[in-house]
Amino acid sequence: MSKFLKTPIDYLKGVGPERVSLLQSELGIYHYEDLLTHFPFRYVDRSKYYKINEITLASAEIQIIGKITGLSEIGQSRGKRLVARFADETGQMELVWFKYTKWMKENFEKMINIPIVAYGKPNEFNRTFSIIHPEIETLENQKSAPQGLYPVYSSTEKLTKKGVSNRVWQKMQMQLLSEIKEIEENLSDDIILKFNFSDRLTTFRQIHFPKSTEELKKAEDRLKFEEFFFLQLGLLIKKINHQRKYKSNEFSVVGKYFNEFYENHLPFELTDAQKRVVKEIRTDMGRPVQMNRLLQGDVGSGKTMVALLSALIAADNGFQTAFMAPTEILAQQHFESMKNYLSEMDIKIGLLTGSTKTKDRKILDEKLTSGEIHILVGTHALIEDHVRFKNLGFAIIDEQHKFGVAQRAKFIRKGKFPPHTLVMTATPIPRTLAMSLYGDLDISVIDELPAGRKPIMTVHRKDKDRLGLFGFIKTEIKKGRQIYIVYPLIEESEKMDYKDLMDGYDSITRAFPLPDYAVSIVHGRMKTEDKDFEMQRFAKGETQILVATTVIEVGVNVPNASVMVIESAEKFGLSQLHQLRGRVGRGAEQSFCVLMTKDNLTEDAFTRISTMCRTNDGFEIAEVDMQLRGPGDIMGTQQSGILNFKIASLVKDQKMMTTARYIAEELLKDDPELSKPENQKIKQHFAEYHKEKIEWSRIG
Ligand code: ADP
Ligand code: MG
Repeated sequence: MSKFLKTPIDYLKGVGPERVSLLQSELGIYHYEDLLTHFPFRYVDRSKYYKINEITLASAEIQIIGKITGLSEIGQSRGKRLVARFADETGQMELVWFKYTKWMKENFEKMINIPIVAYGKPNEFNRTFSIIHPEIETLENQKSAPQGLYPVYSSTEKLTKKGVSNRVWQKMQMQLLSEIKEIEENLSDDIILKFNFSDRLTTFRQIHFPKSTEELKKAEDRLKFEEFFFLQLGLLIKKINHQRKYKSNEFSVVGKYFNEFYENHLPFELTDAQKRVVKEIRTDMGRPVQMNRLLQGDVGSGKTMVALLSALIAADNGFQTAFMAPTEILAQQHFESMKNYLSEMDIKIGLLTGSTKTKDRKILDEKLTSGEIHILVGTHALIEDHVRFKNLGFAIIDEQHKFGVAQRAKFIRKGKFPPHTLVMTATPIPRTLAMSLYGDLDISVIDELPAGRKPIMTVHRKDKDRLGLFGFIKTEIKKGRQIYIVYPLIEESEKMDYKDLMDGYDSITRAFPLPDYAVSIVHGRMKTEDKDFEMQRFAKGETQILVATTVIEVGVNVPNASVMVIESAEKFGLSQLHQLRGRVGRGAEQSFCVLMTKDNLTEDAFTRISTMCRTNDGFEIAEVDMQLRGPGDIMGTQQSGILNFKIASLVKDQKMMTTARYIAEELLKDDPELSKPENQKIKQHFAEYHKEKIEWSRIG
């Protein structure tokens, strides 16, 4: 923004040194700009006043003109409260404070018997209406308050205690706005015209003191657009720069490996979505710039086959592929299934994990450096420094969008040119979230399940239904199916959860005794070999029930398992529930998911459970998850810095985000360097914005 807005707030009239230092320490407000962008978090329509006899219990927040006729402190210790009797010509009510300071009490005493305005949401108690913690001020004062919508600012307890009330916030903003003569434009005339935006100064005036909801909406739209637009511009420029910087191997042919497999060994017809994504990847890798692609596809959508086909294209061009999975079990499974698929082809696959023996490892190393191995499947062991390839051209990172993006960097050093990378995730991310976090990557989506899959039926059951559940499990086992029973394991309460798991295991072995039934158990306290052994027994069908903690969450594939029972389902997050459910429904049989919960659920838990019962669509579930938890929590704190929008919301303003992305794309298509005269305002603002972002990321 302009130099003027970089003025320290010390210079603002009416703000003394004590407030200055509080604004700095409490809210990080140092400059005019920081204050100006401390936007109201809500607005109150203060054009209407109520009479006390008009109050009903259904009244929302209202304001009443009246007088305080008396003040008293009532009750002892924790129940202690300050009660003001408040009256107008139509009746009486009470204003109540449970938290108050001596200063506040003295202040209220001064207001006795002069006209005041009380504002808040009325309650009824002992047949008297009351407002708990109302905002109050003298009628005299209120006359000087802004007309129209009344802005309410977020503040801190310390600031409030030091007298920085909402009115003071308003006064500071008014003072600031009166001092600003002009704010530099940061958008092009073209964009402003297209959206019919007001100029920036008007926009800031209207966001703080809107005269109507229409004015407010207009100001909000512009500010939200700016936030999304400059974020998207940054991501897109990063993407363009990346493509310039990272030359890579051009996979120019689709040759015998791919074609032979596709024509003779493909075990099923690809879904249209799989075909589309393979094409996207093929086109990408056919260019001499590094592919940087995120593949999103729900559990069971068939990402592995897409990965395999892409690896064959690499092989066709004489390059090796590294395929990294997050766990040993998964790496093993990918290795086995790929070996199966490729058994009749002249393609060599290797497996490298933490438990690969030194002897085998030596052989593997040789085959890798000689180029005999085409595809190396493994765990994190793959990115260790001593793993050398003859010519690594392609890196696939499975089930790890959170870390995958960082791990790409480690693969970059392993080829002559950085290998093309494909990060695959079965945790669908809402579109707008993906756009802001991974907007510099290309994103492919498999949004279709293979044909013939029956949607999993999900039901909600409680403890009293347990006998019925056991009966149901028995029928399913009689049909030859297998069952997962999952218990939560949450770190803070690990001991208790462990006990729940063991108690559960006991009751299940009692209900499903040998020799008719065999039950496996897998949990985090077991040794890796023991875990693997039990998992294998279940995978081979030697046991019918697998009791487990969430270790089976990611990727495990036992197509014959058709029932997923989740105990204490209310303790799981939505994406975890969805991941777990994805373990069933992999074969041709009708599959079931049973969510067991206690009787009384919180509203949040109820939403999670009923969402699961309503839909199987991972993207829809991810949207609900984002609404419940907010975008920051979904992704963890690490990445949430990018998501610190001042006014825009990834949940509520998805359309605006998509629009901003589109406008940024169009702009860069037309003027990739932002060198045209009409785009100079954008360029200048972006340079400043970008500098701040970079500084922020250094700190963060
Ligand atoms: P995910 O996307 O969760 O990694 P997988 O790649 O493990 O899914 O595939 C799940 C199952 O679906 C596997 O058994 C796989 O063989 C099968 N599968 C994949 N694509 C198809 C298809 N087009 N038609 C039928 N089955 C498929
Ligand atoms: Mg998978």
